[in-house]
Amino acid sequence: MNLNKLEQILAEEPKYRLKQVYEDVFHNLIGSWQDASDLPLILRDKLDQEFSLKIDSQLISEGKTKKALITFPDNIKIESVLLSHGDGRQTVCVSSQAGCSMGCNFCATGQVGFKRNLTADEIIEQVLFFARFLKKENQRVSNIVFMGMGEPFLNYDNVLAAVNFLNRKDTFNIGARKISISTCGIIPGIKKLSADKRQLNLAISLHAPDDSLRDKLMPINKKYPVGNLIAAVNDYVNRTSRKVMFEYLLIDQINDSAEQAEELAKLMEHRLFMVNLIPYNSTGKYKPSNPEAIKKFKIILEQSEVNVTLRYGFGHNINAACGQLTAISR
Ligand code: SAH
Ligand code: SF4
Repeated sequence: MNLNKLEQILAEEPKYRLKQVYEDVFHNLIGSWQDASDLPLILRDKLDQEFSLKIDSQLISEGKTKKALITFPDNIKIESVLLSHGDGRQTVCVSSQAGCSMGCNFCATGQVGFKRNLTADEIIEQVLFFARFLKKENQRVSNIVFMGMGEPFLNYDNVLAAVNFLNRKDTFNIGARKISISTCGIIPGIKKLSADKRQLNLAISLHAPDDSLRDKLMPINKKYPVGNLIAAVNDYVNRTSRKVMFEYLLIDQINDSAEQAEELAKLMEHRLFMVNLIPYNSTGKYKPSNPEAIKKFKIILEQSEVNVTLRYGFGHNINAACGQLTAISR
């Protein structure tokens, strides 16, 4: 879906048509131009010919979690996930890139490499897919997390353009506070977001409390080491007064010891820092921590007065499947 093309098609129409069309597609969620009853028949026919509303996709259901495998016109495939929480919240976990260049060794996406950045329209399309799906159940998309494939801060402009579109009252009307961006720690992106003064939620994939381990798990740490990363997040929090969620995967005998919990607690001194412990979803390389170790790790953080949750981030149940998206290798 290329919204520039849609705007070109409507260029000769009166101005209000574009607004009507956006409302039809992104608010009323029509699946066919013939359903756009507020448009003249002749325009509906023209749009039918020139602008397809079809999303090339496949829906894969895994219990409460639904995955969409979306294929773009250049045959690039990506995955998005819908997380339905029992309380009516419906969170779409979107991909910002096809693949990822960061190579984190615990992450399935990182292992398949990088294909290309997604455009803002391709990010929006993922939300549109699930919005249409939910409409049939009289539900709507309430939250967005950029925790699918890719590193959102390496595609900053398209991610922010998509966020602006999702915010619009005449489209999805999803407030910035309902949108979370997760980064592996790209400091320039964190700085840019501080300067942008947006009400977005920021999450940091930390996963290790020291450089020697984080270097091994996440190669980006060599460029943006833990100390610099924490300093950048401190600065972000002081400028924006917004909470930041640190995500910490628990991997058996790699990053789940009592000493590591204590080290992590020392980094989490700021009262607006929160930790979300995520049981590692096995991708073959490591084993998930055992429940005893997880419990102990959490207690140590709590004793140090760190705000800590297990699997729940910003009130969303962030399904770890988000770290297992590999659409492009299938
Ligand atoms: N690139 C960004 C956003 C996408 S990854 C980032 O890294 O933050 C989304 C989340 O899933 C990250 O916190 C990532 O570390 C986590 N993740 C990756 N592999 C995982 C796995 N095997 N099990 C559980 N979570 C995983
Ligand atoms: Fe990329 Fe995030 Fe996976 Fe690392 S964890 S490889 S940054 S998607």
